[in-house]
Amino acid sequence: MTKPNWTIRSQIAQALGKVDGPSRAVVPPIHVTTTFIRDPDNQYRSGNVYGRADNETAREAEGMIATLEDAKAAFVFGSGMSAAVAVFLALAPGDHIIAPRVMYWALRGWLMKDAASWGLETTFVDMDNLAAVEAAIRPGQTKLIWAETPANPTWSITDLEGVARIAKAHGARLAVDSTCATPLLTRPLDFGADIVMHAATKYLNGHSDVLAGALATRAVDDFWARIQRNRAAMGLILGPFEAFLLIRGMRTLSLRVEAACQNALELALRFANHPQVVEVLYPGLATHAGHAIAKRQMKGGFGGMLSVRVRGGEEAAIAAASRVELWKRATSLGGVESLIEHRASIEGPDTPCPRDLLRLSAGIEDVEDLYKDLDRALRSA
Ligand SMILES: *Cc1c(COP(=O)(O)O)cnc(C)c1O
Repeated sequence: MTKPNWTIRSQIAQALGKVDGPSRAVVPPIHVTTTFIRDPDNQYRSGNVYGRADNETAREAEGMIATLEDAKAAFVFGSGMSAAVAVFLALAPGDHIIAPRVMYWALRGWLMKDAASWGLETTFVDMDNLAAVEAAIRPGQTKLIWAETPANPTWSITDLEGVARIAKAHGARLAVDSTCATPLLTRPLDFGADIVMHAATKYLNGHSDVLAGALATRAVDDFWARIQRNRAAMGLILGPFEAFLLIRGMRTLSLRVEAACQNALELALRFANHPQVVEVLYPGLATHAGHAIAKRQMKGGFGGMLSVRVRGGEEAAIAAASRVELWKRATSLGGVESLIEHRASIEGPDTPCPRDLLRLSAGIEDVEDLYKDLDRALRSA
């Protein structure tokens, strides 16, 4: 019997439709066991041995993420950072990495301060400039290109097809932090990436109540096996309770992302003409440098993240952030509640982030309320 061709939206709404065998429960139980019974003949035919590597609830979340990314396999981790670092630690000493100048700051910090002690060398480039990426290649030594699109906090867009072509020509892998695009708007594997990473803390879970990370892969190969061993050795697997919450969050991913995209676009259009705003950074605006590529690469929306540069500089930006009421003044992104943050304050002195920039994570609230609240905060300068 051929399986009906349900859309991804339908499959994810039902968490792939798994029903618990004995109880017929529509929501499968949370598997908390750390150990599993051997078969009478000393085998482990269930495939499960011990909880540091094996957990059924984590596997259910992984099945959903692999479906969303059209990947061969996926792994969930205790955080987005641990997922990303597991990729870098699967490289060998002496390997060279190319990473973007504009990227998630904590990961840039790890590459700058800690990667060298593992024998890894990183060159930071403008990832939206393919000639710069090509020029940074060290033939035979560059083993990984790391991209992020749209990239924190200017939302610069990487031409994934272009970078994948460069990686492939030089025998390097392409890994993409696709946290802000979500699998609904961009599927990096479709554009030639080898590995996709998500801070599942953000849109995948969507409720600011779970720290989680995920990787999805084009091929189950030696590199993927090394990532799997890293995860098991360091106990990086996501716990079963968190995996359950992540599954529950992902069931509404399509509704949340759709609402966030609509709100972000509407806010970007309105603030682009605001007297207290110097510039709006949002890939959905025709004025954004990455707009043409984003249009080709992102389906159904340009994401829920945007930034505004405030007239009057850093002081005016921080003052505006202190006056909002509906927007919540906090770091992080991708939740149902809208967040606002003076980004340079958290990124520290070596950030490429403009000092007058406020990063906005559009939630699912009424867009009129969101506009009014921030408009008032900007005008009462
Ligand atoms: C939050 C974030 C991360 C890190 O994820 P954690 O779950 O906080 O470790 C990585 N990349 C991007 C783009 C993020 O927003």
